[in-house]
Amino acid sequence: MTVIGAAHTPRFAGRIVPRTFAKKATAFLARDGIVLYDNPDAFLICAFKRDNALCEPEPDATAPRQHDCRPGCGNAVRTDTHARQAGAG
Ligand code: SF4
Repeated sequence: MTVIGAAHTPRFAGRIVPRTFAKKATAFLARDGIVLYDNPDAFLICAFKRDNALCEPEPDATAPRQHDCRPGCGNAVRTDTHARQAGAG
């Protein structure tokens, strides 16, 4: 058992949504022109909005600094699979 690894697993602070939510979310995000970035290392999808980003991207950035992804960011989206993976540490 790796206790140290579990201590560094990002904490899930979102909610679990049904599978049908993905279709609604896709339409909503396409409306705002948001680009989604898969971040499997952090067990999440980043719905990048530069003004909300906690990873401190450059002022004109069009992509997140995923290597510096931070817990509690409002751009983070987790599916139920991500939540399970995050909890599996
Ligand atoms: S902190 Fe993470 S979720 Fe937030 S914008 Fe940066 S990469 Fe995306």
